Amino acid sequence: MDKIIIEGLSCFGKHGVLPEENRLGQNFIISCELYCDIEEAAHTDNIDKAVNYAEVSRFIRDFTENNVFKLIETLGYRLACMLLKKYNIKKVKLRVDKPSAPIGLPFKTVAVETCLKWNTSYIGLGSNIGDKKAYLDMAVKELSSDENIRLIKTADYIETEPYGYADQDSFLNSVAKIETIYTPFQLLDKLRHIEAMAKRERKIHWGPRTLDLDILLYEDVVMDTRDLTIPHIDMANREFVLKPLCQIAPYAMNNALGKTALQMYRELNGVSPARQNTDTCQTVKG
Ligand code: ATP
Ligand code: CA
Ligand code: CA
Repeated sequence: MDKIIIEGLSCFGKHGVLPEENRLGQNFIISCELYCDIEEAAHTDNIDKAVNYAEVSRFIRDFTENNVFKLIETLGYRLACMLLKKYNIKKVKLRVDKPSAPIGLPFKTVAVETCLKWNTSYIGLGSNIGDKKAYLDMAVKELSSDENIRLIKTADYIETEPYGYADQDSFLNSVAKIETIYTPFQLLDKLRHIEAMAKRERKIHWGPRTLDLDILLYEDVVMDTRDLTIPHIDMANREFVLKPLCQIAPYAMNNALGKTALQMYRELNGVSPARQNTDTCQTVKG
């Protein structure tokens, strides 16, 4: 990916653990790599299409001067978050040097480097109590109004039969494609918070629920912990997940299985893998 580089920006700030640092201040040197698409700016030679590095530099300097943090880790992280949200940047690598840090030994510099990006994730949505559409609408609205999340698109809502525990009302399901700065665990917390807003209760496993939000995929992450498994462990067996996922992202990849959404969907519906490959190739060519 293309990038814009700002190197060695000198900023005055009062960051530090010691009270003297917060009172007197010192020099901080900030460098960053802003990963973005420069193609349109390059072809049009138009500053409005470019990430304006003079503006970014002034923003970094003002943020460093007008805030006080104990740690350069916090300064770097907050700055990186702000840059991602404020400018049209996909990923940022940001380094904060503190060459006058009170170490009491001869040294050249001490620095912290932060790397942060917008991560693509797919969220499964489901509801089968009360006004199901209103619950899904609420979830989509809550996702899109969080400043650490960008809603990219949402699949059509589809009515589906209950899964696992049949003695309950039918479901309304969908899948949302988002980009987020949250880590997988932060995203899970956010989803639990939205479920709580819908007064979700957990009584029966796979039982009735006002709102269920699952992380289906998160970038190319494969992880299996007590609280979080990504890709969602059972997604390949669920028509109500794969159908809406295929509508918005047929080539989204489940890296635990090495299969795309379309491959999982076709296998679930009894299309053999050999046939699938041919089908997929034809789809791509056509
Ligand atoms: P299923 O996960 O089989 O669809 P469920 O959605 O009904 O079942 P919940 O009661 O909503 O299950 O979730 C139980 C726990 O599953 C959550 O609190 C969470 O810690 C854990 N979990 C593990 N992996 C995921 C994931 N990918 N997305 C959401 N929750 C997950
Ligand atoms: Ca679920
Ligand atoms: Ca769940």
